[in-house]
Amino acid sequence: MSNINQSRRRLFNRKKSSAIRPPWSKTDIEFTDICTRCDKCIKACETQILIRGDGGFPEINFANDECTFCKKCADICPEPVFNKTEQTPWESIALVLEPCLANKGIWCQSCKDACDARAISFKPGIGQAPKPIIDIDTCTGCGACVSPCPADAIKVGEVT
Ligand code: SF4
Ligand code: SF4
Ligand code: SF4
Repeated sequence: MSNINQSRRRLFNRKKSSAIRPPWSKTDIEFTDICTRCDKCIKACETQILIRGDGGFPEINFANDECTFCKKCADICPEPVFNKTEQTPWESIALVLEPCLANKGIWCQSCKDACDARAISFKPGIGQAPKPIIDIDTCTGCGACVSPCPADAIKVGEVT
């Protein structure tokens, strides 16, 4: 790839990226500036949720598993891409989106069953299916609730 194309790619990433970077990552702009795309973190991830994303930069895909916060990605990275792992890993939490089956009157608690942190409760409603509520103080953003959701209704991200 030419240098011009690379700088265009970098510009594109800065403007468009909504990728979830590994926990403890610095800001997305810093991340794509410093990361050399060596794949070391991708190979080290114990749950294999790190993938090569847009531009070859690592990002998280919760389609099959969760983040255990094992720190292997941060520990193996040879570049100054990560914050200290004594800090909070990220601000991300689970967000329940409109396709949640409860919005269609269907009873489902798959997300609650998957959450070890017990961050999901269900609010009963008269004549309605109970709806999931995420406790933002308890949710770690681990993503364990993402793949069990039959409606693909949960994403992990920062509250805007
Ligand atoms: S903390 Fe562990 S499980 Fe989470 S992304 Fe890093 S290597 Fe994977
Ligand atoms: S698993 Fe998905 S569809 Fe079921 S209650 Fe949770 S968010 Fe809604
Ligand atoms: S992201 Fe993890 S802690 Fe948060 S609700 Fe989902 S399973 Fe629970």
